[in-house]
Amino acid sequence: MLVDQYGRSHTYLRISVTDRCNLRCTYCMPADGINLRAKDAILTFDEIVQISEMLVEFGIRKIRITGGEPLVRKEVENLCGRLAQIRRLQTLALSTNGANLSDKAAALRRAGVSHVNVSLDTLRPERFQSITRRDRFSDVMRGIEAAVSEEFTSLKINTVVIRGFNDDEILDFVRLAVSLDVNARFIEYMPFPGNDWRKERYVPSNEIRSIIETKYSLEAKQQEESVHGPAADFRVIGTNATIGFISTMSAPFCYGCNRLRLSSDGRLRVCLFAQEGIDLKTPLRNGASAQELQALILGALADKWEKHPGEEELEKKTHGHMIGIGG
Ligand code: SAM
Ligand code: SF4
Repeated sequence: MLVDQYGRSHTYLRISVTDRCNLRCTYCMPADGINLRAKDAILTFDEIVQISEMLVEFGIRKIRITGGEPLVRKEVENLCGRLAQIRRLQTLALSTNGANLSDKAAALRRAGVSHVNVSLDTLRPERFQSITRRDRFSDVMRGIEAAVSEEFTSLKINTVVIRGFNDDEILDFVRLAVSLDVNARFIEYMPFPGNDWRKERYVPSNEIRSIIETKYSLEAKQQEESVHGPAADFRVIGTNATIGFISTMSAPFCYGCNRLRLSSDGRLRVCLFAQEGIDLKTPLRNGASAQELQALILGALADKWEKHPGEEELEKKTHGHMIGIGG
């Protein structure tokens, strides 16, 4: 039902449950943070569940909880438990920086979260402090261990590769994936307002892949959802680990984009790089019917562009902050 004018069917919803974060990653937000939304501007759990139920009714099958940092939202596992109960929802996933994951992993698993992505950009504590502006490296490593022992259906480590910062650790991340039997995903660095993106810091996926292939042999993985997924996945031959590349800059996957994004203040975006999104919270709080909300969503979908702006346009960084949108 959520089909746009280019025939793309939208089955994946990313929900940012907070704009707050316990880290300050330089590639995501300015050092002094962003203007945080007032508490009453943030969707309540009831409102998130109500919007999610409606969107699942319209065809969403996978929901990812993100942020800011979703694990700083109080009792987020209770929200996960309620979302996991929605009939016809097939996958409940969560993206986290891992800093609070050791305390939450078991509760999230029990609540019905099956897929977890942990962001980690360096395996060196001093570098961790410089990129995140916080001293939480050992907490993140404990969080990853806890997630491994909870045996989530899928556990991925997401690394934004930045030239001159962590491009010398690419093979270390592959080794980590091999030792933990997890998926390591390398993300191309994207320009966002308030971040320190510069062209010379951006490393395209084909270069990352060449570095990996100096030591490992990769075999393309058969993907059921390849047309809809941003990551090209490979098996590391001779191991149980897999490697993925998210090539938003060098090979945008707009033609197969199946994603909608709901921000913590109730705005629905049809693209990561969309400026504003449409406001669902105000009509919801004013008692709009499901049909009225559906008309708003379909209107936004009708305006979805065929492709997001190219590198030159993105470099101007006039779109929203990454932290407010949730990746
Ligand atoms: N706090 C959680 C985390 O870090 O995983 C969830 C929100 S974070 C905005 C979601 C994802 O966006 C993370 O994997 C992060 O590395 C990625 N991200 C943030 N800024 C980025 C950028 N400028 N380029 C590429 N990826 C970015
Ligand atoms: Fe926080 Fe995640 Fe952004 Fe880092 S990438 S500042 S952890 S929201």
